[in-house]
Amino acid sequence: SWSIEAEQIRKTYGSGNTAVCALRETSLRIKRGQFAAILGPSGCGKSTLLHVLGGIDEPDSGRVWVDGRELYRMKKGERSIFRRRQIGMVYQSIYLLPSLNVEENIALPLLLDGKPLSAQRLQELLAVTGLTKKREALPCHLSGGQQQRTAIARAAAPSPAVILADEPTGNLDSRNRDAIMGLFRRLNTRQHTTIIMVTHDEALAKQCDRVLYMEDGRILRDTLLRKEEK
Ligand code: ADP
Ligand code: ADP
Repeated sequence: SWSIEAEQIRKTYGSGNTAVCALRETSLRIKRGQFAAILGPSGCGKSTLLHVLGGIDEPDSGRVWVDGRELYRMKKGERSIFRRRQIGMVYQSIYLLPSLNVEENIALPLLLDGKPLSAQRLQELLAVTGLTKKREALPCHLSGGQQQRTAIARAAAPSPAVILADEPTGNLDSRNRDAIMGLFRRLNTRQHTTIIMVTHDEALAKQCDRVLYMEDGRILRDTLLRKEEK
């Protein structure tokens, strides 16, 4: 079965003469455990697609399934709970809480859900992200790369079915960009997390298993670069 399935998604912003059509009857299917990139020029609808897949932005028409559940059929409250458990989001701008240290930031979403993170799981997350020594540091004492790794650990903490990342390396230098890609690859192979990453950087997209190339609200090309033996 599919990790993510989207069928004939249409999404328009605004109305009348000023309406902008961001997605034009777009469909896609992502296998469980795939690491896919969504590539394309600015304004082609990449972020909109990611938000629709993430349950944040309801499409005008079309259907979306994540891990077999139809997202926009759920009631709002049910969808938020589902999103917190099964969909990890990572953005270009990193929204860490400045007064909480690394491990507190990582644990917070689960804590709010009434599910404290176990010490063992926290250790695993710190190890996989290379943040063990920084566990008690406040965000203001971290480099940009370390901050983004903290945000990814937080997204990965509930062991979600999918992680959706929107230009996650957009503000980072090349060394940190490589570290983030390595981290996604580890989460993908060790925990079989499905990852979809939006980027406009072709070189980054080529490191993924599959590249969906978008233009003007549509997926124009779909290239499988690596067969998954998972
Ligand atoms: P990309 O991520 O590929 O840069 P977006 O999904 O952000 O593209 O945007 C697709 C189109 O939708 C663009 O024309 C953009 O201007 C428009 N758009 C995106 N978000 C909004 C919004 N909240 N209100 C109005 N127009 C929007
Ligand atoms: P930074 O270079 O981000 O300021 P560090 O000194 O903590 O921070 O890390 C040096 C480099 O080590 C990072 O840029 C990154 O490339 C790498 N690194 C070490 N362990 C990991 C890991 N588990 N995940 C990602 N990157 C790691």
